[in-house]
Amino acid sequence: MDFEAFFEQQLQSLKNDGNYREFAELERHRGAFPNATCHNGPGEVTIWCSNDYLGMGQHPAVLAAMHDALDRTGAGAGGTRNISGTTHAHVLLEKELADLHGKEAALLFTSGYVSNWAALGTLASKIPNCVVLSDALNHASMIEGIRHSRAQKVIWKHNDVADLEAKLRALPKEQPKLIAFESVYSMDGDIAPIKEICDLADKYGAMTYLDEVHAVGLYGHRGGGIAEERGLMDRITVIEGTLGKAFGVVGGYIAASSKLCDFIRSFSSGFIFTTALPPSVAAGAAASVKHLKNSRTERETHQARVAEVRARLDAIGLPHIDNPSHIIPVVVGDPGKCKFISDTLLKRYGIYIQPINYPTVPKGTERLRITPSPVHSIEDVERLVSALEDLWTQCELARAPMAAQ
Ligand SMILES: *Cc1c(COP(=O)(O)O)cnc(C)c1O
Repeated sequence: MDFEAFFEQQLQSLKNDGNYREFAELERHRGAFPNATCHNGPGEVTIWCSNDYLGMGQHPAVLAAMHDALDRTGAGAGGTRNISGTTHAHVLLEKELADLHGKEAALLFTSGYVSNWAALGTLASKIPNCVVLSDALNHASMIEGIRHSRAQKVIWKHNDVADLEAKLRALPKEQPKLIAFESVYSMDGDIAPIKEICDLADKYGAMTYLDEVHAVGLYGHRGGGIAEERGLMDRITVIEGTLGKAFGVVGGYIAASSKLCDFIRSFSSGFIFTTALPPSVAAGAAASVKHLKNSRTERETHQARVAEVRARLDAIGLPHIDNPSHIIPVVVGDPGKCKFISDTLLKRYGIYIQPINYPTVPKGTERLRITPSPVHSIEDVERLVSALEDLWTQCELARAPMAAQ
């Protein structure tokens, strides 16, 4: 077989469909985020699509903790968690995370992706005859974990508790059940009916597994996520989160009972057979979690910026998906125009927003996913909205009916 020709042809078909991914090569400068240098673009840009939602990736407390750990302990952990890689920093971070979610224990993984893949994969494969009830819009990492488990899977309509109940009712009463879902869904920014799902879990004796990746650090009095905000943390069996988004570093985790965490620790290949995170990363993440438990300024300013961007988009009639979260999806609805707007924002205005096309979102709903942060200034917001207004006119895209003047 001509392997190179095969790769070439596969890539070409992505390109033909407008789905070929091009990366912006960025260099962030300490203290200057959301501004950065785009090395394969126009130079200085303002980033409007980062998942460093609160700018914690450059927070002085986080950097100080990382510098300190690096200088005290060196670069890597030096092993898997089992073979010399469990450092004091890892244990402290797990305690911090268990406390954040009001759980007995927490378990770290090298990323949020790995935590979902490993935890769901292990639970669903090891619990005899387990069936996983998975929300239709769950993240790829959850889908892959469930697939890897080879357990029975039942997909329920996105955020639809009536459909979930119908599917639960159809299953044998005694069969072990695991309901897997997210709190904030990252592409539409909508939020799951967590309480209603927990009620069903109680009624049908199911475990609940909640991905709070787009909510930890951002919601709840101490940044514990939507489940904390709604007073539901104790009703969730497993809360999963990332240290790479609002916490600004990298890594993933689950928080649950001591026995469940010990079970995953003991049986999960994706936890066992990989080098532990560097201690500096664990120390930085712990500093970030700790800071956001005690400081509400970042969350409040974040929500204020989100409201500001939404209000200004409304004022010029730019359609965006209405949702209760911090994610502002501006739907363009055409892959070519979406890419054109993104390219032009970058080249002409120094504004970086990656276009989100199929297969990440359904065809016809191609969008710009705007993520305001507390480190965007009001001037940044003004520049963004005025650039979008220019391009909306240039591309002859529809506007929402404007409010009466
Ligand atoms: C990003 C993401 C993950 C993976 O987290 P990482 O720490 O980036 O690997 C898991 N779940 C959801 C819903 C995500 O958006």
